[in-house]
Amino acid sequence: MELFDSHCHLDPMRYLDELPAVVARARAAGVTGMAIIGTRAMDSEAAADLASREPGLVATAGIHPNDVNEVVAGEWDRIVTLAESGRVAAIGETGLDWYRHDAPPDIQREWFDRHVQLAQRLSLPLVVHTRESLADVLAMLREAVARGPLTAILHAFTGTSVEAGEALELGCYLGFAGMVTFRSSAGLREVAATVPIDRLLVETDSPFLSPEPLRGRRNEPAHVVHTARCLALARGVSLEVLAAATAANARRLFRCGG
Ligand SMILES: [Zn+2]
Repeated sequence: MELFDSHCHLDPMRYLDELPAVVARARAAGVTGMAIIGTRAMDSEAAADLASREPGLVATAGIHPNDVNEVVAGEWDRIVTLAESGRVAAIGETGLDWYRHDAPPDIQREWFDRHVQLAQRLSLPLVVHTRESLADVLAMLREAVARGPLTAILHAFTGTSVEAGEALELGCYLGFAGMVTFRSSAGLREVAATVPIDRLLVETDSPFLSPEPLRGRRNEPAHVVHTARCLALARGVSLEVLAAATAANARRLFRCGG
């Protein structure tokens, strides 16, 4: 079995010298692929360095919507340079967050639009964060898709089936994280069960969002198997089928062979 964790934050600041052990535990659990997601210039660059050393790993470059009001001089240029260098497989994590108010909505929209345009210019997929903002994210993606080709990944998807349908119509991939395993998430499991298998991704969002039965602990890519098992059960397929399909989707999307 091979699994692909399509969204994890493995910046050295969070895992310190444990990082090699975290990657080793992931591989031992069958997680042969991981997308390491950048949220600032520094962790995007660290992600690209890690991905260049470790087979099967890819990196992304972007500035998280909760961080856009802290951007320092030259930081966006570093993201653009990294993206243009060909060392990253996607742009983001970007998006809109109406739950936290770290940055005002108009500033978040402006930064989301920058990331959209960079992804479109470089023909790279876009990693999108939404929180209480899905309608506005979909509206901006709809405008972007009208301007030119764009493939967006709605990570840690928690929307309704109607919203999932709109996202799929726009060509989005939907990533499911630990929330889908929670007892209270029966509705989300129903939504996940209806997503076409070729648009489905599985992720940890490490170090956050640990799935059941590990809820509350620090998350790491090895734990993605719990979320994959939950999705397999919801869809009535084997874990192996679910793992192979979601890994194939991630490899196609991030163009990382295998
Ligand atoms: Zn994230």
